[in-house]
Formats: sequence, structure tokens, C-alpha cells
Amino acid sequence: MMRSAILSFFLWLVVTVPVSQVSSQGNGAGSRAPAMRPTQVVLLGTGTPNADPDRSGPSVAIVVNDTPYLIDFGPGVVRRAAAAFRNGIKGLEVKKLNRAFVTHLHSDHTAGYADLILTPWVLERTDPLEVFGPKGIKAMTEHLLEAYREDIDMRLNGGEPSNKTGYKVIAHEIKPGVVYKDANVTVKAFLVDHGSWPEAYGFRFETADRTIVVSGDSRPSPSVIENCNGCDVLIHEVYSQAGFATRPEAWQKYHSRYHTSSRELAQIAMKARPGLLILYHQLFWGVSEEDLLKEVRAGYSGKVVSGHDLDVY
Ligand SMILES: [Zn+2]
Ligand SMILES: [Zn+2]
Repeated sequence: MMRSAILSFFLWLVVTVPVSQVSSQGNGAGSRAPAMRPTQVVLLGTGTPNADPDRSGPSVAIVVNDTPYLIDFGPGVVRRAAAAFRNGIKGLEVKKLNRAFVTHLHSDHTAGYADLILTPWVLERTDPLEVFGPKGIKAMTEHLLEAYREDIDMRLNGGEPSNKTGYKVIAHEIKPGVVYKDANVTVKAFLVDHGSWPEAYGFRFETADRTIVVSGDSRPSPSVIENCNGCDVLIHEVYSQAGFATRPEAWQKYHSRYHTSSRELAQIAMKARPGLLILYHQLFWGVSEEDLLKEVRAGYSGKVVSGHDLDVY
């Protein structure tokens, strides 16, 4: 009897306590231990074009039943996945990285592409990499494979033990709507407004236990609100309103057309009503993380955290 009481308490704990509440880190950040639930959200890189050594280029992994689904592949993506694997996320073993969704073709989101094509193959991935992204992803893929032709040829034919399939890439150029579905997940792409980019996407992931929306890079876009609409987790890019005030005029003009301020994000979150809002791709411009959170909380009363590389939610 005692054992079953302990077991049911443990199960209750697993079901009812979000990982972020059992974290030992500050700022309400996620745990680095694996979440004991079917769907884990792992922030692989939370950075921007700034070469912050503590924040790799943008990349999120949604891991469902130990199967990884990547969103973007900024610089550092493979090594961050290896670090998450070392932290206990079994689904992020490097050779398992075989599927990715690309929000848009800005280099900060795609500079890890060659790494994602080649490194897991060298580490014995046999599946081709399957990539879903906007128009242009096929050309980028072909050019990268061409750029690395000598390396690929040497690894295939130079006497190194290697397989004949894992370097291949199946690139899909997507349109808004459901772009992918399997037993774990349904992935819907939706257009967001990212300045002059003709196509920039956000993604909505539906799994058996959670709905997760990733804004991609976006100025305030109603499509994010519509697609979250009470979702469990909203991962949204943001820049500091106070930091913005210190920027040169030309950059202010750029950022207000391409990105979302903390004040604007608060308004978005009020309408989107996520269970958890994760600040991502943060531009601080000298403002502290605590102050960035305060800027959002000034207009939004829901649960919000500021993401770090390798946080798990
Ligand atoms: Zn970006
Ligand atoms: Zn961008």
C-alpha cells in the first residue's frame, strides 16, 4: 500500500509540476535535466547575429518520444545538441538529427546548415537530412553540397568507413499550412512579417501532450496570436524597449520593421494567452535579463521566462 501511495504521488508530481518550476536556476529558467514528459522543448541556441559566446545561433529542438525536430540551425547547433544529449536528452544524440524546419534564410538562423548536413553523417547518421523551409532552401542546399563536394567525395571514396546515404538532403520548399505529420507530431507553418523577406515562417507543433508555437523572426504578426490561441508554450523573439531607445536611428528603423519589442510582445501575449511565454533570440543592448523580463511583465501578467541555451521546458 505504502509503495503504491508513493508511486501515485510520484506520478502526480510528474504530471502536474512543470519542469520550469523545479529548476534551480534564476530568472525562472528551464531545467537542464530531461523533462519527464513525452514532449520536451530544448533551446539549443538563443542568440542573435551578435557572436555572444554564451548564446549559440538560433535553434530550438522539440523532442517527442526521443525523436528530434529542429527549428532553425544557427551556428553551434550540432555541438549544442551534443551538450543536451550529455545532459540526458536521449533524442538529441547527434546521429539522430535528421529533420529540421527553417523559419527563414537569414544567416544567423542557417549558418549551422553545413554542420547539420555533414557532422551527423560523419558520426554515422544513415538517414538523409530532411529539411522544410521557404523558397531558396533548395538552392542553399545544392550550393552547400557543391561547396563540400571534395570532402564528401573523400569520405565516400578515400578509404574512410562511411555510409552512402547520410550526407544526402531532401529539401522541401513549403507553403503555409500543414507541412509535416507523423505519429509524434503535426507541424503547421504560417507566414509572419519579417520586414522585406518575401517568406518568413512561424511554426505550430501539435503533439499528444502539448502545443508549441515558435514565432521565428517577426515583427508583431497577428498570425502568431491566431496560431497560439491558448497554446501551451509560445517561443517568441524579442528586443528590449529600453535598449532600443539607445540605438542609432537607422537601426531603430530596421528593428521596428523586422522584430518585436518587449512592449509589443506583452500585447501579443495578452491576446495569444500561452501557458508559458519563452523569450528567445533576445536583443538586450546592455539591458539586464531581469529588466527585459520586467519590460514584458509591465504589460503581461502571464507566466514568462527568458530562455538560455540548453534550457529544457
Ligand atoms: Zn534572427
Ligand atoms: Zn531574421
